[in-house]
Amino acid sequence: MSKLKNPPSQPVGYRGRFAPSPTGPLHAGSLVAALGSWLDARKNGGRWLLRIEDLDTPRCIPGADQQIQAQLLACGLNWDEESSWQSERQDGYQKALEALNTLQLLYPCSCSRQTIAQTLAQRGIQTGRNQEMIYPGTCRPAQLKSYSSNELENTQLAWRLALPPNCEITFEDLALGSQKQNLTQEVGDFVLRRNDGLFTYQLAVVVDDALQGITHIVRGADLLSNTARQMHIQNVLGFKTPSYRHLPLVLDEHGEKLSKQTLATQIQTQTAKEALAELRKAGKHLGLKDLPDGENITISEWLLAATQAWEVDY
Ligand code: GLU
Repeated sequence: MSKLKNPPSQPVGYRGRFAPSPTGPLHAGSLVAALGSWLDARKNGGRWLLRIEDLDTPRCIPGADQQIQAQLLACGLNWDEESSWQSERQDGYQKALEALNTLQLLYPCSCSRQTIAQTLAQRGIQTGRNQEMIYPGTCRPAQLKSYSSNELENTQLAWRLALPPNCEITFEDLALGSQKQNLTQEVGDFVLRRNDGLFTYQLAVVVDDALQGITHIVRGADLLSNTARQMHIQNVLGFKTPSYRHLPLVLDEHGEKLSKQTLATQIQTQTAKEALAELRKAGKHLGLKDLPDGENITISEWLLAATQAWEVDY
């Protein structure tokens, strides 16, 4: 197999998605991504899918997926098809890895974070604490090749995608405008399967978006720096590239992105009143104007007004 087949029937029309990691309940930041992607799909008469990204099993919290679904439903954000779980789609990721192996684009890597940091330091490159390290290519063989399936099954090593020289990706983000990233210089060969055997987010998200026929990706701007990597994988696997719109992040009082790591508090959706209050905050963050602010409005009425207020020009 040289390339994965394109998704069986590329659906006509808009298909969007919300893809939370079940590492905790929804917080104000994730609600913004959920609402933004939902409104964009609704405004465009499209479908909106829910995909639970439970790939990084050590970080997943049991029951968080159910909690997220309940919160979305309480906010009136219904999804159109059965929700899916990445943990159930390992075959698709494995096939993609095999296809990339056939294309002679993979190699195994035994570097630890520490050895990478040391190599970079020797080259005079310092990486900040929260910054990703540019892979210096330590394990990249002089001659790339296909590995046997036995070799590929070796889950003690990480498997990296070999980038071409000067791999520059440019794209137009529908919210943020022209974007450019030189993957070779700014990222380096990146990992598709980790040395604990887990497929990485970069690979899984590309395979899922393609297999689910996603045409429009609307998500938080914290994911912007991943987009070029994902487009490169799409290109080599022969997948269509969806359009991208990255939404403004919700920051805490220290200017940090809200996340479970920063112990962001979950949104309150026990009552319709609370859910509506959370939606209103998210809508304000998205810049929606002139929405009804009365006490007696229902969530459906508010969502309808929000859909009308959502401005898109595709
Ligand atoms: N699972 C990712 C997250 O929760 C989002 C993936 C995506 O939207 O591409 O941050």
